[in-house]
Amino acid sequence: MLDRSTIWPYEDGEPGEFYYQRDGHPAGAAAERALSELEGGHALLFPSGAGATTVLLLTLLESGKTVAVTQDAYYGTTVLMRALERWGLNVVEYDQTGPPPEGADLVWIEAPSNPLLTMPDFEAAAAHPATVVCDSTAATPVYLRPLERGADFVLHSATKFLGGHDDVLLGAVVAKERDSYDRLRTFRTRSGIVAAPDPAWLLLRSLKTLPVRMERITTTAKELARRLEAHPAVERVRYPGFGGLMSFDVAGSADGARRVETSTKLIKNATSLGGVDSVLETRTRWEGDRVPANLVRFSVGLEDVDELWADLDQALNA
Ligand code: PLP
Repeated sequence: MLDRSTIWPYEDGEPGEFYYQRDGHPAGAAAERALSELEGGHALLFPSGAGATTVLLLTLLESGKTVAVTQDAYYGTTVLMRALERWGLNVVEYDQTGPPPEGADLVWIEAPSNPLLTMPDFEAAAAHPATVVCDSTAATPVYLRPLERGADFVLHSATKFLGGHDDVLLGAVVAKERDSYDRLRTFRTRSGIVAAPDPAWLLLRSLKTLPVRMERITTTAKELARRLEAHPAVERVRYPGFGGLMSFDVAGSADGARRVETSTKLIKNATSLGGVDSVLETRTRWEGDRVPANLVRFSVGLEDVDELWADLDQALNA
């Protein structure tokens, strides 16, 4: 049962496991246990992926420290880091397919990156003396366990595949070490950047179907990537071979991409990714010239592969 209490009575005059919701609550703790097991570490929930990023940066870094972030990280992550420059954070962008720059205190990789779908060089990141954070939102623990590849922290926008139904905004961090978890948890309680019971409960519901969703999504996405590559109206497809996130460049111009995104019927023209319903959008509207103007980001859902293809094909021919 979902417990929405903000307080729990002390036990024999002392706070028990749960005493005030800002510190922890049963649904959150249960979802964190499930995520800890999936990633092989110590998980904490946050109210969004961006909230998780904020807490990681504020806990691990201070004025004068440098974060090296992959140049193709989720644009909101880089925008957030740049906003913290006002507080003395140094931000350096680098290409995660190679080694991180010297002098960085924190290395931030994304596996695979959104929406350019590069994979980080895990060995090079692990060989760097800095702490490594891997945003594994698009891979999910079904396909990647970054803590086993040398990362110190895994970050998720659980709004995406983990939540999986476009009805929950949540973030998560999984720490490799217990004392890092303790530091993050203390700052989470102090800052109040905490997830409420309802989204935590929805995440628990969603984790039950995560492997079966990801398996089906990957089977469909692989086939669609193959068909898109052969389509004359498509210049380039980026797909790492697993998961549901891909992007493709529409031949010709930005107008062509715009026509595609406004012509699909089954596939929604919407932002975000990782839900059971397929969505696509051009990304230049948000990211400007960080991405090709004709790039369409596509998140594959659970619909029938041939129905999805028929929709894409008619949109590409529109
Ligand atoms: N990381 C990645 C890879 C994302 O795609 C997103 C959101 O799109 C985030 C982090 C931020 O997560 P949220 O939207 O849950 O704050």
